[in-house]
Amino acid sequence: MNVHTLTVALPGGSVEMPYLDAVGDRPGPHLTVIAGIHGTEYTSIAAAREFAAGLDPVRMAGQITVVPVVNVTAFWARSPFVVPEDGRNLNRSFPGDPHGSVAEILADAVTTTFIKGSDYLLDLHAGDLPEALEPFALYDESPVEAQARELALAYGLGHVVRQSRGERTVGGSTSAIAADLGIPAITAESGQNGILDRPSVERHLRGLDNVCRWLGIFDGPPPEPSAPVEHEGWLWLRTDCAGWWEPAVAVGTDVAAGDLLGTVSDLLGDRVQEIRAPDAGVPLFITSSPAVGEDGLLMGLALTADH
Ligand SMILES: [Zn+2]
Repeated sequence: MNVHTLTVALPGGSVEMPYLDAVGDRPGPHLTVIAGIHGTEYTSIAAAREFAAGLDPVRMAGQITVVPVVNVTAFWARSPFVVPEDGRNLNRSFPGDPHGSVAEILADAVTTTFIKGSDYLLDLHAGDLPEALEPFALYDESPVEAQARELALAYGLGHVVRQSRGERTVGGSTSAIAADLGIPAITAESGQNGILDRPSVERHLRGLDNVCRWLGIFDGPPPEPSAPVEHEGWLWLRTDCAGWWEPAVAVGTDVAAGDLLGTVSDLLGDRVQEIRAPDAGVPLFITSSPAVGEDGLLMGLALTADH
């Protein structure tokens, strides 16, 4: 097992990103696992650390690279969503730009060093500090999407979302750029609200083990086939005005078109906006903090597949 550090030069300094490389005794695919693109999604970071610590090259085929904390400064600053230096979401900054802002420089370093050259990519996430979340995996439309979907099914979470190219709610993400490079990839989400809870970590660890057995990197029977709810795209609902957000539904529940999803009121309690479901679907993440700004993100509503 080889321990490395990627040093990324930034304006006014540099950042050090530790990672681990395990090369098996037998030939096989190269799987890259990254976490901590968002620095406060602790269940995913914990799972990547434990997974890396448990690797045994003698008992594996191929190669596994694990980067437990990509957004290093956000991790130390306990900063949700963004890279503290420039306030930009790293997962909207791929493939990156070596001459751009800090987020773009980091994205470029990750694309160049870790994503290119991988045969498969798993990007581990959770609901961020103010986000409740139902476990799900996401993949993007691409020529390799059938394999990406298989990765999502092997990971074994309850919901899977496919994002078509034309309707990419999330552009500039790791899985989107990997798809563009022809590398099957998924974003896997388990955990919420910055809480380091054991069941969410173990859900990620089971997913990692399943994928490694599915790829033949680990010995053992292929994972039990999972039958998640598969969604075709999703809608990210936002508020018109700043206010006190109160969801009327929980993550993971089926909602019908027109159902009340929540309300926004002013600080004295007068209702200023009702949020209703534009279509049938399942909220997979919901902002759990009542404080939402103008145009603030409220929830991700995954659309029922026969939509
Ligand atoms: Zn995330």
